[in-house]
Amino acid sequence: MSIISNLEKLKNEIPSQVKLVAVSKTRTKEEILEAYNCGYKAMGENKAQELANKYPNLPTDIDWHFVGHLQTNKIRLIAPFVKMLHSIDSIHILVEVNKEAARINKKIDCLLQFYIADEDTKFGLSLEEAHHLLSSPSYPTLHNINVCGVMGMATYTEDKNQIRKEFKMLKSFYDNLKNSFFKSDTKFKEISMGMSNDYKIAIEEGATIVRIGTEIFGERIYLSPFSKR
Ligand SMILES: *Cc1c(COP(=O)(O)O)cnc(C)c1O
Repeated sequence: MSIISNLEKLKNEIPSQVKLVAVSKTRTKEEILEAYNCGYKAMGENKAQELANKYPNLPTDIDWHFVGHLQTNKIRLIAPFVKMLHSIDSIHILVEVNKEAARINKKIDCLLQFYIADEDTKFGLSLEEAHHLLSSPSYPTLHNINVCGVMGMATYTEDKNQIRKEFKMLKSFYDNLKNSFFKSDTKFKEISMGMSNDYKIAIEEGATIVRIGTEIFGERIYLSPFSKR
């Protein structure tokens, strides 16, 4: 299968109102351009340095989505051009993103990442922690970020019922926050969930953004066995 035919197949499976972020981590410039030339302009990366290296070598109208765990000392590398950060998991990181965005006179779209999986290798907030974050005194002072919704990763499992249960949980967290904090905020509308092995379930459960790598570009080859997923 080629990148083009993989994207054709996905186009038929993903409703037009759901955004496809092509997760391009580990992929070459040529592979990314192949997807770009099919009309896909939203790309996802999970390492700040890798993204900073790729950015100057690719078309400037690509919307770069950062989906990996974000370290404060890496925000500056990607802040000038990143479209959306999917992995906010503390008020501390949000304050730092805001600071960096203010420094360059920009507003950065952010998603709150939730811990929904049954795997302790994954990051993210609980619903209670998200309430604390959004109620914290510093939150209303952050004028250079937009909190646009939620993101989560389901357990890597064959058990479709478990995956569905986790996506339902993320959707319920989204609804809870929408009602509690964002009722009249039209920017808070995104639910980023679903990867290659579970995007169909995610769409059924209300995803507005799916993040897909392998189904587009093929299996990833990692240089280090320790850097998987
Ligand atoms: C790698 C990655 C994806 C894409 O995974 P695939 O299984 O290749 O589709 C999606 N989201 C995040 C956060 C990732 O790190």
